[in-house]
Amino acid sequence: MSLLAVGGVAEDELPGRPINGRREPAISRHQGLPRYGGSTTGWLKSLAPCAMAASLTEVDIHDLKARGIRGIILDLDNTITPWRSLEVSDGVLAWLKGARAAGMRLCIISNSSKARRVAELSERLGIPAWARVGGKPFGPGFQQGLTMLGTPPEATAAIGDQLLSDVLGGNRHGLYTVFVAPMSASEFVATKLVRIAERMALRLLRRRGMLPASGRGPAARGKQPTAGEELGE
Ligand SMILES: [Mg+2]
Repeated sequence: MSLLAVGGVAEDELPGRPINGRREPAISRHQGLPRYGGSTTGWLKSLAPCAMAASLTEVDIHDLKARGIRGIILDLDNTITPWRSLEVSDGVLAWLKGARAAGMRLCIISNSSKARRVAELSERLGIPAWARVGGKPFGPGFQQGLTMLGTPPEATAAIGDQLLSDVLGGNRHGLYTVFVAPMSASEFVATKLVRIAERMALRLLRRRGMLPASGRGPAARGKQPTAGEELGE
């Protein structure tokens, strides 16, 4: 796949808001979105991913590297493993191995309440992890991830399956955000409710041309749904 961004604006044209007492860009500096008028533009931009992919394994590590990315904050549930599962597919294991081989630092930041499960997966995968309910998007999760990786925001990507958690939080911290389709339909009941708002946001983003082209591997082209399509777009 190729990870594509759209449009282009100067960083100082982007809206800002205070986060934890500091003023940071409301959207990622990696986002190159066309400007729109209207009061909804700011929050819509904060939900727009820099790139989209059908799954974690479709994210092109070499493309990330070419963009100057050296560290990746990974979501856990429905990004690395199905919800509440301890199973990690061979494809995901191979992707993680490839990412390490490319020199990427990795960490897992999760909103899971199952600390023991997260710790077990962290140990098995050899990837440091941090988990707390509510840790994303407004909690300390992404700052924890940046600290664990030791990479600056402009050299860090966030990959996850939730627009209102992984993408919103990553954008607020100035990361290169990659939105992937969830691995399965099984998820926490509250997440299912959030998906309703997510579908509405995706519809608005798509209507305004604020979604990047979905990245798909050549073998998957025309076969797998995009992250947006997977979510009912
Ligand atoms: Mg998730």
